[in-house]
Amino acid sequence: MNAMMREAKYHTFAVQLMEHLVVPTFVLDAAGRVIIWNRACERMTGVPASAVLGTRRHWTGFYQQQRRCLADLVLEGASARVAEFYEIDRSLDCQTGALSAENWCVFPTGRGRRYLAIDAGPIYADDGTLIAVVETLRDITAQKEAQSALELLASLDGLTGIANRRAFDVRFESEWELAARSGQPLSLLMIDIDHFKIYNDHLGHQCGDDCLKRIAQIIVGETRGDVDIVARYGGEEFAVVLPHAGLDGALSVAHRILEATDRAAIPHHEASSQDRVTISIGAASRNSEMTSPADLIAAADASLYAAKQRGRNLIVAQRSVAA
Ligand code: GH3
Ligand code: MG
Ligand code: MG
Repeated sequence: MNAMMREAKYHTFAVQLMEHLVVPTFVLDAAGRVIIWNRACERMTGVPASAVLGTRRHWTGFYQQQRRCLADLVLEGASARVAEFYEIDRSLDCQTGALSAENWCVFPTGRGRRYLAIDAGPIYADDGTLIAVVETLRDITAQKEAQSALELLASLDGLTGIANRRAFDVRFESEWELAARSGQPLSLLMIDIDHFKIYNDHLGHQCGDDCLKRIAQIIVGETRGDVDIVARYGGEEFAVVLPHAGLDGALSVAHRILEATDRAAIPHHEASSQDRVTISIGAASRNSEMTSPADLIAAADASLYAAKQRGRNLIVAQRSVAA
């Protein structure tokens, strides 16, 4: 067998190897045309090799509309643009020209929505010219969903199921930034159950827990689920972030929560003047004197303190707070 025949044999073997690789893989030549679209790639995308070989239509395997795949970005040397096209850029070493990313893909062939981990690396000839790019894909939907479920769990309060303090801090900060940029109003309610220590002491911790759950449900029921953030701020204190709401809007939500709590008529015979559980609410809105989220919390806290001082089961609003 002469050298040329040997080389041709190795070439055929290399192509066969790639064809049967269990990892979904496709290869583009230096002009961006598909030269290999392996069996696993056919199985993953539902697109047969015959539909894409020799074309630049590899994107049809993964996306509804024409767009760049990771292999295209490698060809273009456009590592800086990965974040523009992919949910996560995991490229570690741009020196090699290889890129890694993750993305949701809705396969046009109707194979559903899958989350893919994608690697694309260049292949160079001996003289250093780029001759091809290999892209490999891994379906990591199950891991992504498990991770999202864990993240959700870590952001919820175990007792009431509403956002916990950590989630509140993150989301409140981002709403603050949005409001600062857009100039839209932002309000905050701080809600504290009145005489809850006595309630707990007389009825027991279990009843105290049930009461906390009821109050959380009442607050959730009176707020906009898709916009407002209801959180357990700590102990028997709740916080409600009201994006796009000025003080008047915040006050009307506060009144609804106070009235709904009254209607729930949770028995509390030990309370000084009431026969049912009541709450006090401090309301505040972002204003030009405030420079950070902590300022708005301080204003709502001061209002809540005033509500307690004035006798509880009422709402106090603070229009502005001095720094
Ligand atoms: P005020 O009207 O001034 O708010 O008085 P209060 O008694 O409600 O306030 P205080 O801060 O004195 O007591 C709060 C109580 O809340 C004490 C604590 O035992 C109870 N508490 C905090 N977290 C929980 C919880 O997760 N479960 C139960 N059952 N009780 C809790
Ligand atoms: Mg209290
Ligand atoms: Mg309290």
